Amino acid sequence: PTKPYDDQNIFAKILRGEIPAKTVYEDDHALAFHDIAPQAPHHILVIPKGAYVSWDDFSARASDAEIAGFIRAVGKVAREARFVEPGYRLLANTGVHAGQEVPHLHVHIFAGQPLGPMLA
Ligand code: 5GP
Repeated sequence: PTKPYDDQNIFAKILRGEIPAKTVYEDDHALAFHDIAPQAPHHILVIPKGAYVSWDDFSARASDAEIAGFIRAVGKVAREARFVEPGYRLLANTGVHAGQEVPHLHVHIFAGQPLGPMLA
């Protein structure tokens, strides 16, 4: 079972406007902003507005409208940033073995150079 949601996590604070972020996109379901420590020439994080710990929590508990809205937002961010060609990578670290640091679901978008077989 997933840990209960901690509303003091850093992305919850960004959603509430308590700490700043370089926002690139926002709609009813999602917020997208630049990662503070980019690991590719372009490194954007997309988060759902709802309180979900991880991909596992989101996929189990979110409504169909939230899931559809979030996935469409990830696609829109990538399209608006013109990442579709030549391409980009999505990553959602989930839990301890994946090294998830922030306990609010975030999908990483990496782009801007050939990304190799895998990012650490
Ligand atoms: P995870 O390891 O959980 O998949 O990724 C967490 C990501 O959040 C890391 O890439 C890290 O650089 C980023 N991050 C951590 N704190 C902040 C912050 O305060 N602002 C922004 N914009 N990114 C953050």
